[in-house]
Amino acid sequence: MSIQVRNLTKHFTGFTAVDDVSFDVNPGELVALLGPSGGGKSTLLRIIAGLEEADAGTVSLDGEAVDHLHARARRVGFVFQHYALFRHMTVAQNIGFGLEVAGVAPAERQARVEELLRLMGLGGLGGRRPSELSGGQRQRVALARALAPRPRLLLLDEPFAAIDAKVREELRQWLRALHDEVHVTSLFVTHDQQEAFALADRVLVINQGRLEQAGTPAQILDSPATEFVARFVGEVNVLDGVMHQDHAHVGELRVPLQHPPAGRGVRLVIRAYDLKFWAADDGPATVRRVLPLGDRVKVEAQIHGAGPVFAQFPRRSSLLEGIEPGTRIAIEVTHARAYPRAA
Ligand code: ADP
Ligand code: MG
Repeated sequence: MSIQVRNLTKHFTGFTAVDDVSFDVNPGELVALLGPSGGGKSTLLRIIAGLEEADAGTVSLDGEAVDHLHARARRVGFVFQHYALFRHMTVAQNIGFGLEVAGVAPAERQARVEELLRLMGLGGLGGRRPSELSGGQRQRVALARALAPRPRLLLLDEPFAAIDAKVREELRQWLRALHDEVHVTSLFVTHDQQEAFALADRVLVINQGRLEQAGTPAQILDSPATEFVARFVGEVNVLDGVMHQDHAHVGELRVPLQHPPAGRGVRLVIRAYDLKFWAADDGPATVRRVLPLGDRVKVEAQIHGAGPVFAQFPRRSSLLEGIEPGTRIAIEVTHARAYPRAA
């Protein structure tokens, strides 16, 4: 099942939540809608599901407009952050609920529930109540319940947001593996870039109701289309400078640019791993702090005549030798994105 979204717009009183958004999802793709909270991701998903009506634009499934179709008729499965399971029902009854409503015969229902329990890694737990499960197991039951009626489309709205970091990561890997097995076309909403990049075939970055960029994780990371995307994905330095020939000057720091923007003012967006520091008595910056962060070390420095800059290095990197607070350093920028700025 493919999805075609064309010019979707949705206003709430005096406010545009979704602003002329268009994109396609190919059959069997897992696509993430990534963006900050309040950006319109849930509204977009709810319009596609038929739970919310757009003011303008169309949603088509396999090329057929579904705008007039009720949510149930669209045959989409939906999983929310807090998709409360029925507490008085067992896990198996929860998973089989949609099939029972649809009038599927008991034997067939049971076979499908068994299949899903196995697929979800919930074998042997069918007789338990939701209260006897962990948070991660509960979200897998919610997912099994959504998949049971064989939806044409699976829509997930921050399904793992309320789960601990470690289990969340396991759920991610597991959802990716599940998707590779069942291949149901899926749209996954998240504000967590790592989650989007770990899971999705393609990522749509949404901000203030608009689609900022659509691309593979590598395209979004390596070629951000807008300053917003560059700043949103990854830990970045944002340095304002002035162009002199093909170098950006940021205080005493000089950054050569292959593609300088038009005009004198320039805004550089530099990822924390696209910088090298080494001790140099005539360098343009001085180290302020060295912060161990698990397997990485963050080094914060002050650029002379400008603001702070930081970089991250692997814990045992030789680049860290001799780097301590007070060390004067040279800086090499291995990769920078440059955007025009009113100087
Ligand atoms: P996201 O899921 O990206 O966090 P939402 O789609 O939930 O964003 O919301 C986008 C904006 O629309 C938010 O500012 C939110 O407050 C507003 N909004 C969402 N639903 C309604 C509603 N029913 N009435 C009024 N405003 C709403
Ligand atoms: Mg939301």
